[in-house]
Amino acid sequence: MPVRTYTQFIGGQPVDGPGRGTIERRSPSSGLPVARYCEGTTDDVDLAVDAARAAFEEGPWPRLSGMERAVILNRLAGLIHDNRDRLVQIEVEEAGKPIRFARGDLDGAVGLTRYAASLAMQMSGSTYTNLGPDRTALLTREPIGVVALVTPWNFPALIVAQKMPFALAAGCTVVLKPSEFTSGTAFEIAELATQAGIPAGVFNVVSGYGATVGDHLTSHPGVDFVSFTGSTRTGRQVVGNTARNLVKSSVELGGKSASIVFSDADLDAAVDGALTGVFFNNGECCISGSRLFVQSSIADEFVARVVDRSRRIVVGDPFDEATDIGALIDERHLDRVMGFVRSGVDEGAQLLLGGRLAAGTAGHFLEATIFDRVDPKMTIFREEIFGPVLSITRFDTVEDAVRLANDTTYGLSNYVWSKNIDTVLTVSRRLKSGWVQANTAIDGAPQLPLTGVKGSGFGYEMGQAGFEEFTQLKTLLIHTGPRVPVFRN
Ligand code: NAD
Repeated sequence: MPVRTYTQFIGGQPVDGPGRGTIERRSPSSGLPVARYCEGTTDDVDLAVDAARAAFEEGPWPRLSGMERAVILNRLAGLIHDNRDRLVQIEVEEAGKPIRFARGDLDGAVGLTRYAASLAMQMSGSTYTNLGPDRTALLTREPIGVVALVTPWNFPALIVAQKMPFALAAGCTVVLKPSEFTSGTAFEIAELATQAGIPAGVFNVVSGYGATVGDHLTSHPGVDFVSFTGSTRTGRQVVGNTARNLVKSSVELGGKSASIVFSDADLDAAVDGALTGVFFNNGECCISGSRLFVQSSIADEFVARVVDRSRRIVVGDPFDEATDIGALIDERHLDRVMGFVRSGVDEGAQLLLGGRLAAGTAGHFLEATIFDRVDPKMTIFREEIFGPVLSITRFDTVEDAVRLANDTTYGLSNYVWSKNIDTVLTVSRRLKSGWVQANTAIDGAPQLPLTGVKGSGFGYEMGQAGFEEFTQLKTLLIHTGPRVPVFRN
């Protein structure tokens, strides 16, 4: 593919010109330039918010019936599906992820868009007829308004699809700021949205850096709701920005999830689950099961099997169908991940596998890396590494497992492996996280909301609950018939 150039997409038009720089994106696997995005300015953000505001206040989108919005969103889903191969190619080039996972992301984006379309038709409130004979109340659900979406680089198109179609289904208008590393598919999807019939100004995309464009957008007084996905550090800044404007926000942040394997688990499935948990998407995954807890009675055998399977993991060219782990997003991130690997060794964890750059590769490729005997005080137990690095800790009892899993400032997801329903339910209910998956890993469906607790954020994404984030309830209380006066004189 030739190097792709993207301008801002504001009010249905490409916007570029003087005063704006260029962000050159080099493929993290080949090092070659693959895209040039416009380096947006705060003026671009103002223009985009104005366009979204005009489309919300005066445009047809919020006034269409749910059925009409659903038809258009389904058309968009069809267009994403028809353009899947091109979008997959862009995602692999810009993000460095293995092609088979990129395909899964785009299929996921299609499914999310179709599901959001169905919600457009179901948007409804409720009625109270139990307030006495002369009072009726209607709770009507309305679009929240102009929404700002800020997305990270690890699932570029998928996370856009976790937000944008849900916002549009509710009748909102959108300004999206994608990651400066992986903006390509956001612009491509905006183009497809226009083809699908989404009116000008309803879906605007502004690329640029977080400190300028992201900060200005999330503190913009013209925005009614901010939906952010990214690191906990940036999430705190975003919440500070929205708090100053008394604007609602939803922040989906980092994680340090646990895979907990009990001795009565289906061990074949649990080995694959442990690998999926940590190596899926290069380990650059918010719900990565980066801490593996194994019951002591099976630990030696189980750890040996995990290591053995991990030796067969293929690291390399993300375009190769056989590749399991591609390139990490950039040099700085690779250095950070390598710093965690060094800290694991220095702090006394036992390095069982990997820990080095993958042989025979030129980009940012790290071997599948496994540490055993990891102690809760160690840095690799506590920090989100966001790379293919697994920490193993052994436990004896259910009590130990729950205590260890909850010993983190994060609370996004956890995985429980046991064939005993008592164990699954007891442990799941005691885990402090927004998600728990039992006997499966990195699973999900558009109907199922994602949320975090503690340092993993708040608010919902996907599902009915995720849709409702983009809406607001208005209470309408109606009195009928003669009214007894309150003031009698
Ligand atoms: P990041 O926080 O560095 O950036 C996320 C987005 O925020 C980018 O678009 C960035 O430009 C923007 N940004 C940066 N500074 C900003 C500021 N001051 N104001 C507003 N916006 C700003 O995160 P990342 O490195 O792109 O993504 C990785 C992180 O995202 C990891 O911590 C991961 O766990 C998290 N994540 C969470 C989920 C979830 O659903 N909980 C999903 C995917 C990724």
